Amino acid sequence: MIEHVAETIKGADLVLVGLGEEMDALKEGRKEEGSWLLPFEDKIRIEELAEEKGQCYRDLAVCLENKNYFIVTLCQDGLIHQGGFWENRIVEPCGGYEKLQCSKACSADLYEVPEKLMEQVKIFLERETESAVPEEPVCPKCGSPLVFNRVNAPCYVEEGYLEKWMQYKKWLQGTVNKSVCLLELGVGMKYPSVIRWPFEKIVFFNQKAELFRVHSRLYQISEEIKGRSQGIRQCPEEFLKELSKAF
Ligand SMILES: [Zn+2]
Repeated sequence: MIEHVAETIKGADLVLVGLGEEMDALKEGRKEEGSWLLPFEDKIRIEELAEEKGQCYRDLAVCLENKNYFIVTLCQDGLIHQGGFWENRIVEPCGGYEKLQCSKACSADLYEVPEKLMEQVKIFLERETESAVPEEPVCPKCGSPLVFNRVNAPCYVEEGYLEKWMQYKKWLQGTVNKSVCLLELGVGMKYPSVIRWPFEKIVFFNQKAELFRVHSRLYQISEEIKGRSQGIRQCPEEFLKELSKAF
């Protein structure tokens, strides 16, 4: 099976990759509730996991070398940026921990995460009682708390990814009548309208498309597209490790 996936990628004009929850370092982003410090703690945790969890992206990069690809990811950990992919071929519709936004979305502006604040949070979490509680960052326009620009925010500012999404849509138009290899890795049923259903639709309409759905549990394929799709029951990280060896 691995060989067949590798050959299909090698022979395809275009490769479309969908990455899902199973690939996320934190599995699922924490809800915006409880202390404002908790998502910052998650950001620190991601930084700690970066080396280990970044490996699967380096494996993926080996498989996509010299290919015309696009990557849609539901992961919020931002580790996709460690793979050395073309930045204009990655879209992250769920956002992540890179930028901050106003919790009331009083504007579509995004803000950098202050380095000083990250330092203060780290120190505070290490020696909770001895140090002062860091000050919560606030919106310079309305004074409401700033939160990470991600789908779990109370009022998600979608402008963070919309431009990339338009580029993705444009790229998709170019897949018509081309041989496309669709690689779905660890995509569950949380946001099926972003990756799973549109990918199935592409395979349904494009006779030259082939889909590989890799997931440890939700690898099933619907009847309509069975001829050009394969469900692979495997942890996506292990799959990528094996697949990269076939290149
Ligand atoms: Zn505001």
